[in-house]
Amino acid sequence: MTEHSKVIEEYLLTLYKLKRAGEPAKAVTLANRLDTSPPTVHATILRMQRDGLVNVTKTKELTLTKEGQSIAEDIAYRHNLSEYFLCNTLGIPWYEVHQHAHLLEHAMTPIVVEKLAEFLGKPEFCPHGTPMPGTELPENTITLMEAQPGTTVEVAMIGEVLEDSVDLMKILHEHKVMPGKQHKVIEKTEVMRSILLESKDGPSSLPFHVAEKIFVIEIPKDKKRSIQP
Ligand SMILES: [Zn+2]
Ligand SMILES: [Zn+2]
Repeated sequence: MTEHSKVIEEYLLTLYKLKRAGEPAKAVTLANRLDTSPPTVHATILRMQRDGLVNVTKTKELTLTKEGQSIAEDIAYRHNLSEYFLCNTLGIPWYEVHQHAHLLEHAMTPIVVEKLAEFLGKPEFCPHGTPMPGTELPENTITLMEAQPGTTVEVAMIGEVLEDSVDLMKILHEHKVMPGKQHKVIEKTEVMRSILLESKDGPSSLPFHVAEKIFVIEIPKDKKRSIQP
């Protein structure tokens, strides 16, 4: 795989993630996310447009073409599968697999992807709870910001943008803010712009901008577990 196509793959994957997160995809967003200069992003987008991978709307919004979407889904799949493998087979902590998977995802041939998926039992979610392409989070998933004080929630997914910071991921790990874990929402304080949680491992406080990127499912009162796994 050439360096050129690796760059294109990164762009496609980022556009795909923005779309899934419901965020606007513009050249400036790409420049920020990929830490690249706007002129470079502009040149690459022109190339991708020429190659039939993206469309640029009148409002300068970038959308994936059918081909762009299918390549992006393929990379997202390779990424999530790599993470699952690194975490569940090789035992690398869930909070640092993203960085390694980021490199692996570009080096996998179709046969490797197919055999690895079979070997892993075709997982549907990465260790951060991100659904593989074709799989969706349950419909009643909300962000932690939307959860009401007094309710108990189970973490479904740590938003992909948070995976970029290993330090932040480690903090989430220490507070057991990870898929499958339950937390009670104690309060949201506007002054501190933070949300206070409590689990059997103790209290934790998360800033609003992090809580907005964490996806949870409210646990009905009668289904609350007194002792969590
Ligand atoms: Zn990742
Ligand atoms: Zn992940």
